[in-house]
Amino acid sequence: MGDRCKVVIVGDEFMSYFCNTMNLCWFLLPELDNAIRTLHRVVGNAMVDDDRFIIVGNGSTQLFHALLYALSSPDLPEPINVVAAAPFYSSYPEETKFLRSKLYKWAGDANCYDKDEPYIEVVTSPNNPDGSIRGTVVNREGGKAIHDLAYYWPQYAPITSKADHDAMLFTFSKATGHAGTRIGWAIVKDKVIAAKMVKFIEVSSIGVSREAQLRAAKILGVIADDCRNLDLKGENFFEYGRRLMSERWGKLRELGMKSNGVFSLPKYPRGYCKFTGEYTDSNPAFAWLKSNEVLNCENLLRDESKIITRGGPSFGVDSTYTRVSMLSRDVEFELLLERLAAIKGTVNGN
Ligand code: PMP
Repeated sequence: MGDRCKVVIVGDEFMSYFCNTMNLCWFLLPELDNAIRTLHRVVGNAMVDDDRFIIVGNGSTQLFHALLYALSSPDLPEPINVVAAAPFYSSYPEETKFLRSKLYKWAGDANCYDKDEPYIEVVTSPNNPDGSIRGTVVNREGGKAIHDLAYYWPQYAPITSKADHDAMLFTFSKATGHAGTRIGWAIVKDKVIAAKMVKFIEVSSIGVSREAQLRAAKILGVIADDCRNLDLKGENFFEYGRRLMSERWGKLRELGMKSNGVFSLPKYPRGYCKFTGEYTDSNPAFAWLKSNEVLNCENLLRDESKIITRGGPSFGVDSTYTRVSMLSRDVEFELLLERLAAIKGTVNGN
């Protein structure tokens, strides 16, 4: 991208806590608000009509905490139950339990939830760790949901419809890879919930770095411009990302076809992607490996080939599963393939 994403900030700029006192989310930079809405409109992955509230956070991690706070109530006699269908993103239980809150508590796998009590279901789609496309599984009257759509971008999955849930989370970390900028955003329908989230962020960090917001706004803006530019020579950001991910998945699956297979990989249905206008495959950010020999998959990879992964138990399932990142640098990814191939047999999946 060369200089196109460069941001220059002079010494006396952006000194105030406030970004826009007219907005409910007073610490959201208008440029970022605009870039987020524009990008979602261009990609078509989420509804961002003017009546939706956008709340910026220090990563979507802070917004997850803000949502737990906003969706719970001090008036309930017991902390509200927080569930997610296994395998679930390993940080949800940790984040939910950490403060031993009286407002909410971790209640485990949503597939096993049988209490007749208020609950919040966290739905990650595409899912971390297994890349599956998901909806709520509990579906009880009065149930609340947090939709974590960190990976709902064209490089990872076909964009089949505009997500339009009450509370949705997105993050710069997964949209573009800029995890260190620590910018996430929530799209929320209800003003009371949005206001509670803003209060949470005010109390925990008095807003979000304006420098980080400006950088995110710039980069998201350039990406959106390229997606809309019909004269663009070459690929836009998402086409580039999708090609790269699809090449990597192709190589990993090929490895599996060549051998009997010590491991297997999930299969994903193709879907019509409204962004690209063609049927596309899912190319998740993680490969969810299962040991066909019912071995501890994380230990096997570490001990036999020095491949560091995160095992099933972190995600609420058994140790025959492990999660491998597909987002490493090229050299590391090639090394991963080499080492996987050296394990007697290899990956079975197509
Ligand atoms: N949700 C999911 C599903 C994730 O995988 C991650 C990052 N691993 C996050 C949230 C946290 O993202 P952030 O960097 O925005 O805090």
